[in-house]
Amino acid sequence: MTEKSFSSSDALILEDNFKRISHNIENAMSKAGRTDKVRLMAVTKTVPPEKINHAVSLGADLLGENRVQEFMGKYEFYDKKCEIHFIGGLQNNKVKYIIDKVSMIHSVDSIKLADEINKRAAALNRTMDILIEVNIGGEESKGGVTPEAAAELSAYCSELTNVRLRGYMTIPPPSEDSSKYFARMQELYLSSRSEYNSMDTLSMGMSGDYEQAVLFGSNIVRIGSALFGNRK
Ligand SMILES: *Cc1c(COP(=O)(O)O)cnc(C)c1O
Repeated sequence: MTEKSFSSSDALILEDNFKRISHNIENAMSKAGRTDKVRLMAVTKTVPPEKINHAVSLGADLLGENRVQEFMGKYEFYDKKCEIHFIGGLQNNKVKYIIDKVSMIHSVDSIKLADEINKRAAALNRTMDILIEVNIGGEESKGGVTPEAAAELSAYCSELTNVRLRGYMTIPPPSEDSSKYFARMQELYLSSRSEYNSMDTLSMGMSGDYEQAVLFGSNIVRIGSALFGNRK
């Protein structure tokens, strides 16, 4: 690993961040009158494994991975008691590397990718949980499907034998206020959920907007920099 080593003051900052974020999530939950559960995902890109394992020891029980190659290099050092989801853009030819290491893939945005995941999962005699990534702001630079295409892709995925469609993931466009995007996602999610009873997951909210996302029904918030510090 080339990253700077992890000091005891880093550990204290991490503990502080973890407590503060957990507390903020609780507050947003009560503000929204919610009594269900929101999971705090620790997003690990660029973070060295020892720091990630410290977060796990504090109670972070869900890791989010973006980059296949980086993940492959760090995986063997992870504390194996935590759950790992893949959240980054995923090429079809990389599915085989992660299929046995993660319990959910948040970034499904094509029939081809869904087919590949289904095929690889079937070969391992398992079912892979997936979320469809929705490009709610219609940005050209981003992965994900339009809300209209999400309905079609949901129908397709729900018929596959070795994937289980759990819901949607989104990354809204950079803006001062993400609430209009979160509101649209919540609406899309709730209407799809009434059609597919395997759906129970809405993954939205990052360091800058997770409290707002909780107000709109998110139940996985994906937090990188607010937890681990700014990425170099
Ligand atoms: C990096 C990343 C995050 C976390 O971003 P922060 O703003 O650092 O919290 C969440 N989701 C995805 C898909 C990411 O790539």
